[in-house]
Amino acid sequence: MSDCLFCKIIDGEIPSTKVYEDDQVLAFEDIAPKAPVHVLVVPKKHIPTLNDVSVDDNALLGHMLQTAAEIARERGTHETGYRTVFNVNAGAGQTVFHIHLHVLGGQQLGACAAER
Ligand code: AMP
Ligand code: ZN
Repeated sequence: MSDCLFCKIIDGEIPSTKVYEDDQVLAFEDIAPKAPVHVLVVPKKHIPTLNDVSVDDNALLGHMLQTAAEIARERGTHETGYRTVFNVNAGAGQTVFHIHLHVLGGQQLGACAAER
C-alpha cells in the first residue's frame, strides 16, 4: 500500500534498523523502544489488522511467531522472559495499520497492559 509506513519500510523507502529478513517477513528495531529488546516482526504482505487475516495467512502468522522466538533467543531474553504483542485497533493502541508483532524483553515486564 502506497501510504502505509511499514510497506514503505519493507520497500526501503523509509530506513529501518533491520534485525532479520526473509521472503515473508522483515523484523526491525522499534524506533521508540519500550524495553531493552523491542523488535517489530512485520509480514511483507499488507494486512491492516489481525481482524483481517484469513486461513490463508496461518502459515505466515506461525512464521512471525517463530521469527519472534528466534530473535528473543538471539538477544538472550528467551529464558528470562519476553512478550509478543499484536495491538488490534485504536482501543489497544494500534497506530500503524499493517500488522506487526512486538517482541519485548530484556527487563522485567509488568503483568498487564502489554507494552504501554
Ligand atoms: P502499534 O502502536 O502497535 O501500532 O505499534 C507501532 C510501533 O511502530 C510503535 O511501537 C512505534 O514506536 C513504531 N514505529 C513507528 N514508526 C516507526 C519507524 N519509522 N521505524 C520503526 N518503528 C516505528
Ligand atoms: Zn502496509
